[in-house]
Amino acid sequence: DHARHLPTHRVHYSANFDAEYTRRISIITELKLALSKDSPELSLVYQPKLDLTTNTVSHAEALMRWNSEKLGFVGPDEFILIAEQAGLIGAVTEWVIKRAINDTKNLLQSDVDVCVAINLSAKDILNKTLLSDIKSQIVQAGLTASQLAFEITESDLVSDAEGVYSELALYRDAGFALAIDDFGTGYSSLSYLKSLPVNELKIDKSFVLNLDKNQSDQQIVKTIIDLAHNFDLKVIAEGVETQGSLALLQKWGCNYAQGYLLSRPVPVESFIQWYKDNINTDWFSL
Ligand code: C2E
Ligand code: MG
Ligand code: MG
Ligand code: MG
Repeated sequence: DHARHLPTHRVHYSANFDAEYTRRISIITELKLALSKDSPELSLVYQPKLDLTTNTVSHAEALMRWNSEKLGFVGPDEFILIAEQAGLIGAVTEWVIKRAINDTKNLLQSDVDVCVAINLSAKDILNKTLLSDIKSQIVQAGLTASQLAFEITESDLVSDAEGVYSELALYRDAGFALAIDDFGTGYSSLSYLKSLPVNELKIDKSFVLNLDKNQSDQQIVKTIIDLAHNFDLKVIAEGVETQGSLALLQKWGCNYAQGYLLSRPVPVESFIQWYKDNINTDWFSL
């Protein structure tokens, strides 16, 4: 019986492995090419963050999009991870920073005064030249540090094995706000919060998507909001899709909300239009 099962299993496994391997290689090759020629396949989209105390939009997150001619739409959850593993994240981030700074300049020229948050991976933070690159680019663009912020995924921050914390402190000292992204999914102990030089916790969307229906998500989110405030940190919820969830977050004193209820992430021109269309929207009485 064993003898009959094994070969079948191996053939099946290796066919899957080949397909996955081929896709990885194509992603690496095509992404490298797209970055090197600043291809229109690559873009940034922007999603607003609502300030729940003032009912205004003063922040937005920049998210990368890749619509590959060869591979079709590839999501950032897939290609960012592969870029990190393949040593390509430096080039990705360089592209993102350049584009985001240019877009931020355009936003300000269109009277859209928002702080733009960029996602960084721990590998970026450990790259010692990135911070000085960013500083010189914002000076060149006529911007200040308060107009950019950075988000780093929690799972990248749970240990300081490689010295990320001291590098992060340099970003904070330079005036950039820092958030721990996907908070609640990556930690094993809360003690790391004591030594982390950040300004904000960003509650992972897995706790927020069903907030208005799910009792245990409600307990978790309330707890994270209090935890953040006890550490003198701001707190934002991502994945806010319903009016009910927004109302709960506001009731519990959450500082900001981000999600499809307000807007999906959209290209910068659409973001400018959305911002102007919604300057007087009262998000709590729709
Ligand atoms: P993230 O930084 O946690 O971004 C939030 C993700 O949640 C985004 O997915 C966003 O589109 C999605 N989202 C926002 N509101 C809602 C909502 O109400 N409902 C639902 N279902 N989803 C919502 P996206 O754009 O696919 O990005 C996935 C992840 O890829 C990001 O998670 C981030 O970790 C990474 N990523 C995206 N752009 C970049 C980038 O430029 N650089 C780096 N290093 N990572 C990036
Ligand atoms: Mg983020
Ligand atoms: Mg993330
Ligand atoms: Mg997230």
